[in-house]
Amino acid sequence: MATATLTIDLDALISNWRTLNDHSASETAAVVKADGYGLGADRVARALMRAGVRRFFVAVAEEGAALRNAIGEDAEINVFSGHMAGDTDMIGDLGLTPMLNSMDQIVRHVEALPGHPFGVQLDTGMNRLGLEATEWEAVRDLLLSQNPTLVMSHLACADDPSHPMNGQQLTAFRAMTDGIAAPRSLAATGGILLGPDYHFDLTRPGVGLYGGFPFTDAAPVANLSIPVIQIRDVAEGETVGYSNTWTAARHSRIATISAGYADGLIRAMGHDVSAFSGTESAPVIGRISMDLIGIDITDLSEEPNSVELLNATQTVDTLADAAGTIGYEILTSLGHRYARRYKGA
Ligand SMILES: *Cc1c(COP(=O)(O)O)cnc(C)c1O
Repeated sequence: MATATLTIDLDALISNWRTLNDHSASETAAVVKADGYGLGADRVARALMRAGVRRFFVAVAEEGAALRNAIGEDAEINVFSGHMAGDTDMIGDLGLTPMLNSMDQIVRHVEALPGHPFGVQLDTGMNRLGLEATEWEAVRDLLLSQNPTLVMSHLACADDPSHPMNGQQLTAFRAMTDGIAAPRSLAATGGILLGPDYHFDLTRPGVGLYGGFPFTDAAPVANLSIPVIQIRDVAEGETVGYSNTWTAARHSRIATISAGYADGLIRAMGHDVSAFSGTESAPVIGRISMDLIGIDITDLSEEPNSVELLNATQTVDTLADAAGTIGYEILTSLGHRYARRYKGA
């Protein structure tokens, strides 16, 4: 078959969670939004549950509903986008916990599902989601009297430890929440690495679990193996691929592999990426096509049946750097055509 195989190492995932949990001065949850950052939320969450995780976060209620089916009743599922119109049945019937972000959401939640658990998201400067300080001031006592499961905020610059925004947001969060009885949460992966001042009662790592920056000590979780469809000889001076962007400087052996930008191997990665055959590597050449990529295998000692584009050497962050993006985008773009295989756990 020509389908590429994405192997997800659940033992590496769990080991990353354990390492972040060891760094955390508090309980460590897991963020599995966007289908577990592209790696499969159901399998990822079940593996993490076996490792002891009892609190998950997703972006939207529909993700929470699917996750509930996958993991059963024994874990809390929190929804970052809160309680939107149309979400009430899912939140109520499937026991999801919305992080309420606005006055509208607070009213909707207490009217539609009085007594149903909720958390509160506060804005401490990112200006993306959550109540502003003045709104919080107005409803704080009322909300706290209902025992929210969590009061949380999110850091805008935590991947840069030297950024002054981190301290500013910490100060703002403390000013809004010091002295409350409800559990508090500020840190995602980057925030965990900023140190215990940022940990409060619960941390919410996502990308670090999946092996991405800023958790530079992470074990690699994703391995992508792509079949070679065809190998050909190309004479010096011949070109390969769309727009003739690569010209053979010598007689070359070119392998065409079965994946492309439709599988999340975005075109902008261009030539700064290699294909691995065992411990040897061969350069990607020419334009990345929708379903195909050219590889110059002239210098490999053996002709490969398949090559790896993601492995312990070339990680999601290597691909991201080559494409001018971030590991998060590489992970969440990983194609639906890949056969996902899970090993370990
Ligand atoms: C995505 C997200 C997280 C997880 O962030 P990572 O950087 O992937 O660890 C945590 N909290 C919120 C609010 C998020 O949106």
